[in-house]
Order: sequence, then structure tokens, then C-alpha cells
Amino acid sequence: MDAKDILAALQDEMGQEALFQKADAVRAKHCGNVAQLRGVVHFSNYCCRDDLYCGLRKSNPDITRFRMTGDQIVDTALAIAEAGLGTVVLQSGEDSHYTRQMLCSIIRRIVAQADVAVTLSLGERPIDDLRAFRDAGATRYLMKHETMNPDLYARMRPGLRLADRIRTIETLRELGYQTGVGNVVGLPGQTDADLAADIAFFQDFQPDMVNIGPFIPHADTPLRHEATGDMDRMLRVFALARIVTQNTHLAAANTVATLDPDNGQYRAFVQGGANVIMPNCNPFLKSKTDKIEYEFQITTKKRYVSVDEAREVLRRAGRDAAPGRGDSLKMRGEYHD
Ligand code: SF4
Repeated sequence: MDAKDILAALQDEMGQEALFQKADAVRAKHCGNVAQLRGVVHFSNYCCRDDLYCGLRKSNPDITRFRMTGDQIVDTALAIAEAGLGTVVLQSGEDSHYTRQMLCSIIRRIVAQADVAVTLSLGERPIDDLRAFRDAGATRYLMKHETMNPDLYARMRPGLRLADRIRTIETLRELGYQTGVGNVVGLPGQTDADLAADIAFFQDFQPDMVNIGPFIPHADTPLRHEATGDMDRMLRVFALARIVTQNTHLAAANTVATLDPDNGQYRAFVQGGANVIMPNCNPFLKSKTDKIEYEFQITTKKRYVSVDEAREVLRRAGRDAAPGRGDSLKMRGEYHD
């Protein structure tokens, strides 16, 4: 699609049902009727960044911070594997407490003991760290680009530049990671043209994974009084992402369930072309030891979607949980032309 077509489709509220149907047909053709179930371990909510939209930002004094030990992270990952999920997502704020050596050890222990793919979502790290994590056995890395508008990016992420982010994303791909990107829909000051640029980026980069989420104002951030992102607009972004990437793994993120707890993820599946759901799995750990304070609130009142709840979304959407690790469909030579 060219930029004009993307923008027109994004703004066509009356035509969104046809757009949703097209996205669902593309999803069915390229991803089938199965869905990928990925288990997320939120292992630290410390972060050195100060993103205006995020409750984990370093300037928020009202959050209870936690860090899991290496043993706790590995135990949780193994519990996810035992539950039959083929991917473990290790996610944290940007937290240098976890050194290259610590993280490599954690990754090695997980892949040595379980047949799971390890996805990292740790924010930006030095290239030598990224290479070492890859060598230790991590095969995927999720790094949302947040927005393709460089001015908006710089406003939302003080001290950071979009160009550096994109360079890091390209580096992840060069290192051999299955690479995921994603945006936030509804950021204060964001225009439809900005969203169209995000979709054009999905089209150009053809990411292995895409993670789209709504802006939801967090009460302890400078954006607390801003408006929440619009569900229908976000679903049009989902649908266009599916259409321009065809076979990317597109996640119905848990923030979508925060925006609409009853139907958000269901609509992402049946209307937005999603084929991935990523339940929060820290409760596995809680059942073993009740000592972890668990707060990973990028958005206010973020919903923690359990494995059972995720399976229920799939059941409603008529999808079976896919067996295996669910590697990139693009890595199997299914790039479209
Ligand atoms: S979005 Fe990520 S990098 Fe930014 S403040 Fe939140 S946890 Fe840190």
C-alpha cells in the first residue's frame, strides 16, 4: 500500500468492517487458524528511562519496585514450559542490575532445561550484550519503535532519539534475532499521519513480530490527564499491520485487554488479524513462593491476563493454541512479494 492508501484506510471509519474482514482473511491465509501462546515473565520493574507515558519511569516514586533473582526467573520459565507453552518472554524495564553475565546464565539455563524459545524484551543494551544473549540461546527480541514521528518520540522519551532506536532494531536483525517492533496508538499529539508512518514502517521492515498497544494514561505520570487511545482506531492499525505484513506474528497485547477487558483481545483476534497472545506468568512463581511484589504497570490498572484467560480468548475466537515454539513465519521463507 502507498502512504496515501494507508492514511485513507486508517481514517475510513465507515469502511472499517470491510477492512477488518480483509485483515481476517489475510490472517487466515498466512497464519492459519492457530494462535501462538507466549508466556511472559516480568522480572524487574526498575527502569533507567523516563518515558512520559510509562508507570515504570524512573521518576515515579509511587511504584513498588521488584527484581527477581536468576533462580526465580529460571523457575518461572520452566513452569511456563511445563504448562505447555513454547515461548518464554523475559521482559523488564531497562535495568543494568542484570549484567550480561547474569542474563546469559539465565538464558543458558532455560534453553538447556526446556524446549522453549526465549524472547527478550529488555530495552536497549550494548551491542556486545545483544550478541552475547543471542549466543547464549535467545532467538527473538522485541523492541517497540513506539512512534515513527521523531519529534513525538523525543517528546515522549526524554533524551532519546528515534534514529538511535531504529538503528538498534536494525542491529537486532543483523545479529540474527527474530525481531519485533511496535507502536503506541493514541499518544498525546499523535496524528493519523504518524500512525500511517508506523504502518509504512511495518510494511518496509517486515518485522517477524508486531506488538501494538493503546495509550492509556497512567495516574503517576505527567500524561495522567490526557485522553485514552481509541479502540476502533487502534483496531484499524492492527488490521492494516496485518494486511501490509501478511504473515508477521501480531500480538493481541495485554494493554488491549486493559482498554477493553471483556472484548479487547477478542476483537484484536477476529477483527485486527492478531494471532498471538502473551499471558502474564508471574503467578506461576507466586504459587511457589509468595514473596515477589508484582507490579508492572506501564498503564494504569493494566490487566494481568492469565494463561487460562488467554486460552478462553482463543476459544471465543475459534483458534487452537499452536503446538511448538512458534518461530517467525518469515524465517521459513514465506516473505511475500
Ligand atoms: S516504556 Fe520501557 S523503557 Fe520506557 S520507562 Fe517504561 S519500562 Fe522504561
